[in-house]
Amino acid sequence: MEILRELKALFGPRLLTKEAELAPYESDALTAYRERPLAVVLPERKEEVVEAVRICRRHGVPFVARGSGTSLSGGSLPVRGGVVIALNRLNRILKLDPKARLAVVEPGVVNLEVSRRAAPFGLYYAPDPSSQPVSTIGGNVAFNSGGAHCLRYGMTANHVLGLEVVTPEGEVVRLGGEGLEGVGPDLHGFFVGTEGLLGIALEITLRLLPRPEAYHTLLAAYPSLEAAGEAVARVLRSGLLPGAIEIMDRLAIEAAEAAVRAGYPKAEALLIVELEGEREEVAEGARRLAEVIAESGAEEVRIARDEAERQAIWKGRKAAFSAVGRLSPDYIVQDGVVPRTRLAEALREIGRLSEAYGLRVANVFHAGDGNLHPLVLYDGKRPGELERAEALAGEILRLCLRLGGSITGEHGVGMEKRAYLAEMFSPLEIAAMEEVKAGLDPLGLANRGKVFPPKEEAHA
Ligand SMILES: Cc1cc2nc3c(=O)[nH]c(=O)nc-3n(C[C@H](O)[C@H](O)[C@H](O)COP(=O)(O)OP(=O)(O)OC[C@H]3O[C@@H](n4cnc5c(N)ncnc54)[C@H](O)[C@@H]3O)c2cc1C
Repeated sequence: MEILRELKALFGPRLLTKEAELAPYESDALTAYRERPLAVVLPERKEEVVEAVRICRRHGVPFVARGSGTSLSGGSLPVRGGVVIALNRLNRILKLDPKARLAVVEPGVVNLEVSRRAAPFGLYYAPDPSSQPVSTIGGNVAFNSGGAHCLRYGMTANHVLGLEVVTPEGEVVRLGGEGLEGVGPDLHGFFVGTEGLLGIALEITLRLLPRPEAYHTLLAAYPSLEAAGEAVARVLRSGLLPGAIEIMDRLAIEAAEAAVRAGYPKAEALLIVELEGEREEVAEGARRLAEVIAESGAEEVRIARDEAERQAIWKGRKAAFSAVGRLSPDYIVQDGVVPRTRLAEALREIGRLSEAYGLRVANVFHAGDGNLHPLVLYDGKRPGELERAEALAGEILRLCLRLGGSITGEHGVGMEKRAYLAEMFSPLEIAAMEEVKAGLDPLGLANRGKVFPPKEEAHA
C-alpha cells in the first residue's frame, strides 16, 4: 500500500502495523469501544507529525491524534483503516519562563510534569484532572479538561495562551501568543475543546500560577448525598470561592478506602472543601466556612492539620474513579452537568434511576461547578447488562438536560455521546458546527466519526 510505504520511509521502525503492535492502541479508557487502525506512527519531532498529516491527506486516509489514551468518551479510538498519530514521545518542555510565568510544551508532556518542573520557581499549572499523572497536555487541550481545582481557576482553556497547530490540510498555524491580552479573535480559545477535529496541537504555551501561600482543607461527613449537595449550595451562597468542592458517595468512599486507605469516616456522603490563597484570606475564609458547615447538618468534620493530611484526603478522591473497579468488573463513567442549585434534586433522581434499573451507581464529582460523574456499575458478562447500563447512563444525561445542564462537563462527546448531541443542540446549531469542521477539514480526515452523529442517527 502506497501510504504505508511513505510512512515507512519517514518513520522506519516507528511505524507499527503488526497485529500485536496495534493491539494497545485499539481502544482508550472507554474500553467498550474497540477498533483496529491501519497503522500507528510514533513521531519524535513536530515536523514528523506535520509530515504524517500531509501523507494522510494526500491519500485521503483519516487520522487520530493520541496522547495517553485516557479519554473516557472514545475520543482517541482509532478510525477503521486510519492512522493513529501517537504523541507520547513529543514530551519535552521547550521553555519555562518564571518571570513571564509561562511554559511552552510539546503535546505529549504529561500534565503533572509541568507543575513538577515549575515547582522550584514557586509556580504550578492549575488544571488538575484526576488523570494528571498520566494524561497529556495535548489531550487536555483537545477536551478542555478540568479538575477539582477548576472551580476557582477555570478549565484548560483559561490556561492556554497560545498554540501551534497542524491543520487537517497540513498547514502549520500559530494561534494566540504568550500574553493574556491577545489582538483579534480568540482563535486558540476556539481550538481548545474541539476534540482533535480541527487538527493536531504541536506546541502549547501554558500560563503558570504562583503556588497558593496557604490551604485549608475540610472533610465533612453527611447522612445523605442530598444533604451534601445542599451543603454545596450553602457554601457558595455564603460568598466563599473555594479552590475545590468535591463530593463522594458511600460506594465511592468504600472503593477509595479499599484502594488507598485514605482514612475517610464511614458516611453516606463526604464533602471536601478546600480554600486556598494568601494566608490571611484563607484564615478568614476558614472561620466563615466553619460556620456554614456547622449549620449544614454534617455528622463529622475534619480539618487537615498538615500537608500530609491534606494529601491523604486528596489521594482518596483522586483514586476514586479507578478504585471503583474493585467494586464491579465493569463500569461506565458518566459526565454531565447540572446547575449547582439543582444538585440535590439531580442526586435524588439518580438514586431513583439506579433502583429502577437495578444497577448500582457510585457518585464522585466536582460539586462546586455541578459537574456530575455517576459511575454506573455492571457486569459485562451478564447478558443484557451492558445495554441496561448504557440506557441508565443515557437517562442520567437526559436528566442533566432537563435540569438545564449539559451532556458533558469535561470528558467530551467523542464516540460515546454523539447520539446525544442532537438532544442538546438544534439541527441549525449542529449544521453550523459541521460547516466549521468542513471548512477546515474538507476531506473529514481529523478524528473522523467523532462528536457529530452519523447522518442516519442525526435525522432519526
Ligand atoms: C481515571 C481517570 C480519571 C480522569 N479524570 C478526569 C478529570 O478529572 N477531568 C477531566 O477533564 N478528564 C478526566 N479524565 C479523562 C481524560 O484523562 C482526559 O480527557 C485527558 O485530557 C485525556 O488526555 P490523554 O492524553 O489521555 O488524551 P487521549 O485520550 O489520548 O486523547 C483525547 C482526545 O484528544 C485528542 N488529542 C490528543 N492529543 C492531541 C493533540 N496534540 N492535538 C489535538 N488533539 C489531540 C485525541 O484525538 C482525542 O480526541 C479521566 C480519565 C481517567 C481514565
